[in-house]
Amino acid sequence: MIQSILVLGSGSAGLIAALSLKRKIPRLAVSIVRSPDIGVIGVGEGTTPNFPRHLFDYLGISRRRFYELAEPTWKLGIRFLWGERGRFDYTFAPQLDSHWTDLPRPNGFYCDDDFSNVDAPSALMREGKVFHRQANGAPDIQPWHAFHIENEKFVAMLETVAREAGVVIIDGKVTGSERGPQGIAAVLLDDGRRLEADFFVDASGFRSELMGKALEEPFDSFGRTLFCDRAVVGGWARTDEPILPFTTAEQMDAGWCWQIEHEHHINRGYVYSSQFISDEDAAAEFKRKNPKTPDSPRVVKFRSGCYRRMWVDNVIAIGNAGGFVEPLEATALMIVCSHCHTMVDFLLHCELEPTPSMRALYNELTLATWHDIRDFLGLHYKVNTALDTPFWQHCRADTDLSGVQPLLDFYEENGPTGFCRYRMPRSQSDFGIEGYFVMLVGNRVPYRKKHDSSAQELARWEAHRAANIANAKRGIDVKEALYYVRHPGWQWNAEAPR
Ligand SMILES: Cc1cc2nc3c(=O)[nH]c(=O)nc-3n(C[C@H](O)[C@H](O)[C@H](O)COP(=O)(O)OP(=O)(O)OC[C@H]3O[C@@H](n4cnc5c(N)ncnc54)[C@H](O)[C@@H]3O)c2cc1C
Repeated sequence: MIQSILVLGSGSAGLIAALSLKRKIPRLAVSIVRSPDIGVIGVGEGTTPNFPRHLFDYLGISRRRFYELAEPTWKLGIRFLWGERGRFDYTFAPQLDSHWTDLPRPNGFYCDDDFSNVDAPSALMREGKVFHRQANGAPDIQPWHAFHIENEKFVAMLETVAREAGVVIIDGKVTGSERGPQGIAAVLLDDGRRLEADFFVDASGFRSELMGKALEEPFDSFGRTLFCDRAVVGGWARTDEPILPFTTAEQMDAGWCWQIEHEHHINRGYVYSSQFISDEDAAAEFKRKNPKTPDSPRVVKFRSGCYRRMWVDNVIAIGNAGGFVEPLEATALMIVCSHCHTMVDFLLHCELEPTPSMRALYNELTLATWHDIRDFLGLHYKVNTALDTPFWQHCRADTDLSGVQPLLDFYEENGPTGFCRYRMPRSQSDFGIEGYFVMLVGNRVPYRKKHDSSAQELARWEAHRAANIANAKRGIDVKEALYYVRHPGWQWNAEAPR
């Protein structure tokens, strides 16, 4: 029976894993070993709605504490400066997979020409507002938001909460491991210490000390679907720019650029494929299009892919130690939260005595999520017809989407009907059919079964959009909403107990 768990690494993945285990299975002795010399990745700032659900509802971290220590801003979705339309907004609420009772077809069928202000959050995004306003003037904070966070502040907050929860944190650099009958018996530190445990979580980031190095699990590259492998990361201190309530993703000559909004800082980065542009040329294009970025931005290298199994013997890999996809759609923390939840469920279901078939099922489920996200991101590139650079030509011609071909064929014949969901891959991602629709409709991917709307129908459709716009215009912007939630008298509606 598992009684002790050692987590290797205290980036956001290791700390979320340790906290999830300790909070949900308090009888476990949970420790972390981490190397302050190696440090954390220091990037990774956009999230999706499963992140607040995991933090507040699952782990019971208090919102007040999170806002005080991590200093987040809100993210309602992603503005895509992308494709033939030039611009469309992806929100975390159903825009297209939704159906007004006074209209015969779902929303997606009315967006061929104009895909804007389709739901409340997309209208708020257009108006630069983050929430609707309550009658007393305060923000009406709805659950369809995520956050922008700064990696290092967030990690520091998690560390404080983890220590309070009883997680022991040990400083030391792991240089090797010892094998035992269950898999790994102990890890060895550079100062000669030996740390034993019944079970290990590898959260050592791209180094993947246990899953990759010690257990030598094969790594499956996503290189046939996702071609980007580097980013230049820059940013600047905010002056008079408004704090936008969304992430921006903008197409570039050999990839795309993110813009993430912090209260006092704007974080910008260019994700590109080194097959199509050199680091110097990427930095030059980045600077030309964003004159406020530093002259020598930091270059981060990565590979998109995952280990064939996330659970081998007595080791589970979480975060970058298990796999990584490039940051379009900001999926890393989403996967971390989802996998931590799944890991805890599996350990509870096997009463801390895992069986081979439980491990096999865990590996099947987690791999399906990786593959769904790979294909979902690949779709963003494949259907973008706006630019004719060699990179984008290659994306259109060669992105492998065979994993979602049944869904794409069904869409091509039937359009954005909710029945497309029956052709979706099985997955635990936050995107679902709505995410696919936003990319397909947003990029005007053709389908055959068009709906011919009557004039009355179109008038009703426009009335819904106009109502969204009118409500959004009365909304509240990020700066004012932050002021409200920081006020000592502010009450969270559903404040968690801890
Ligand atoms: C360019 C870029 C942009 C990104 N943008 C986003 C985004 O918008 N949203 C998002 O969710 N994610 C994003 N990510 C991913 C995100 O940063 C990470 O997935 C996430 O923070 C989890 O990191 P981690 O904890 O796995 O790894 P890390 O932060 O690297 O932590 C690894 C830990 O292991 C320790 N360690 C490693 N080796 C040893 C050793 N031998 N001995 C002891 N300790 C060791 C380190 O000290 C550290 O504590 C981005 C990533 C990149 C590269």
